[in-house]
Amino acid sequence: MPVGEFDLIDRYFRRLDRPGGHARADVLLGVGDDAAVLRVPAGQELVAAIDTLVEGRHFLPGCAPQSIGHRALAVNLSDLAAMGAEPAWALLALTLPAAEEAFLEAFAAGLGRLAAAHHVALVGGDTTAGPLTVSVQVLGFVPPGQALRRAGGAPGDLLFVSGTPGDAAAGLQLERRAADGGVAPPGEAAAGQALRERFLYPTPRVALGRALRGLASACIDVSDGLAGDAAKLAAASGCGLRLEADALPLSPALRALAGPERALQLALEGGDDYELCFSLPPAQLPELAVAAQAGGCPLTCIGVLEQAPGVRLYRGGKIQPYVATGYDHFANSG
Ligand SMILES: [Mg+2]
Repeated sequence: MPVGEFDLIDRYFRRLDRPGGHARADVLLGVGDDAAVLRVPAGQELVAAIDTLVEGRHFLPGCAPQSIGHRALAVNLSDLAAMGAEPAWALLALTLPAAEEAFLEAFAAGLGRLAAAHHVALVGGDTTAGPLTVSVQVLGFVPPGQALRRAGGAPGDLLFVSGTPGDAAAGLQLERRAADGGVAPPGEAAAGQALRERFLYPTPRVALGRALRGLASACIDVSDGLAGDAAKLAAASGCGLRLEADALPLSPALRALAGPERALQLALEGGDDYELCFSLPPAQLPELAVAAQAGGCPLTCIGVLEQAPGVRLYRGGKIQPYVATGYDHFANSG
């Protein structure tokens, strides 16, 4: 890229080192030097995560740049949320076919709005010419020994999920249809828009993750499909899992547009929800209401960890053998 293009990129991203216009005191040296210098608060552990979004793989070609910027940060904040961590800093590696001003402005606005909401400072970055690819690394803190892990659940622990899984996968299908020139059936507008928003602008459950410290026995964020991610939590905890299909919180929009069977399948196997799935010893149940309040999102008990390995899906009181399939973000969204 010509030098002028780097100046352009610099202009849009340098301002993101002050989330919401306020500098973080723990950023001793931010964007502009060879590396950032950051101060980890005394007595805290550093938690780090990184995720990459690739055009055509994690978002559709022609996707709104605001959404790409939002999601690139949101998927990382969701990983920190799953650890119960407090996000602080982010680094961005952006590969672009060309430094187009309208794209950069909207991308930076999408990323910047979410960063400001969580008081996350962008402290470094790199730009390269190439096919559109966005990598974001986030860093955050957790009190010593308090990070939530996938391991830690025990047989008898109740399994919960936040929000309404399946919405984002349905939203992606609608985005795909629109990109292919498809026409929305009459009456779909409001519900369809709600589902598309869940895919384009997921809400990382940062406050909930924080509130679950010392409460949840294990936690994972749902990026690859609820059943598969819940199975990962159970396996890491050395347990199996009983999932109650009838208990899954299906949103009215998802039920209306997908129908009951497809809605159930999307809730179990669709991805990109960025909700939290966690286990909780039953003795902690009374305290969960406080965490739910702090988390600002609905929580639903969807099953229980069991001794026997594997996932068992119960429906109408009957067991159905269930093999959780890995979610392929685009391949299974036909
Ligand atoms: Mg994750």
